[in-house]
Amino acid sequence: MTAKLIKGTDIGEEILQEITTETTQIKEKYGVVPGLVTILVGSNPASISYVTLKIKTAHRLGFQEVQDNQPADISEKDLLALIDRYNKDDSIHGILVQLPLPKHIDEKKVINAIDPDKDVDGFHPVNVGRLMIGGEEVKFPPCTPAGIQELIVRSGIETSGAEAVVVGRSNIVGKPIANMLIQRGKGADATVTIVHTKTKNLADHCKRADILIVAAGVPGLVKPEWIKPGACVIDVGVNRVGEKPSKNDPQKMVPILKGDVDFDAAKEIAGYITPVPGGVGPMTITMLMRNTLRSLKSRLGIQSGNS
Ligand code: NAD
Repeated sequence: MTAKLIKGTDIGEEILQEITTETTQIKEKYGVVPGLVTILVGSNPASISYVTLKIKTAHRLGFQEVQDNQPADISEKDLLALIDRYNKDDSIHGILVQLPLPKHIDEKKVINAIDPDKDVDGFHPVNVGRLMIGGEEVKFPPCTPAGIQELIVRSGIETSGAEAVVVGRSNIVGKPIANMLIQRGKGADATVTIVHTKTKNLADHCKRADILIVAAGVPGLVKPEWIKPGACVIDVGVNRVGEKPSKNDPQKMVPILKGDVDFDAAKEIAGYITPVPGGVGPMTITMLMRNTLRSLKSRLGIQSGNS
């Protein structure tokens, strides 16, 4: 294998340790801990497992965590009122509404109802604007792109002046990571191209990339011959391509996950590559925790810097 593996599990764990240390110090000095509420509407199994993992992680870090489960038929009005209650609750620094929501609820209205200073997902238009301005304006970088940037920085990859190509233009991954990479500063200063479904000659763009970030949701989209030798390849894609018996309990079936990059062939050409699973995935929850800590620090007037 040529490429160095970028392990999100290890880097994420390192950051969680840092968050735990800072949380303990803040608790000792100020007598407060970060408070995170996760609002789950209905009982979508994937949403339940995401929320459970978020709550477990928050608990492990010493945060105050509130899991607020609401029935699938909650009215939009009641959900908005609930959010308003948490907006006004001083012990809560981060509000997360697990998406997707049932069809009768307008997701946009719900996101817009969250206080931008508690919007730890970074999806509120105010936070999208802050991210666009960059620098000191940024309050909550969205979690998956922030995780990608940390993987790049902590792996010692030079971004300044690098050609970065982002495959995908979604609001949660493609657009924000491209925006973060063009800003000034650490883990940025790159020359960025965004490619998407209407792009001509996708392969030619990818071949130029020193840093190739793929968030398309198409298994094996990026072929090994599209990768510049030595490039850093960040595979954001998580695609269920089948099922297999669980290692711990062979009676139980677990999904087989594949990324958007043909990993086995790509690792022979790339200089760095993220695996799926275990690459970008674990970073998303880690960054959610970091944003929640940042929210408390901002309330206490403590500078966050790059952390
Ligand atoms: P999305 O469907 O909203 O956006 C996909 C983007 O890829 C679109 O902008 C589209 O134009 C582009 N695209 C799709 N097919 C393409 C093709 N053939 N050629 C060029 N561009 C193409 O998806 P998303 O929410 O950005 O997620 C992308 C992938 O990342 C999914 O597999 C998702 O599961 C995964 N994801 C992982 C995490 C994580 O924490 N690891 C977080 C978010 C998303």
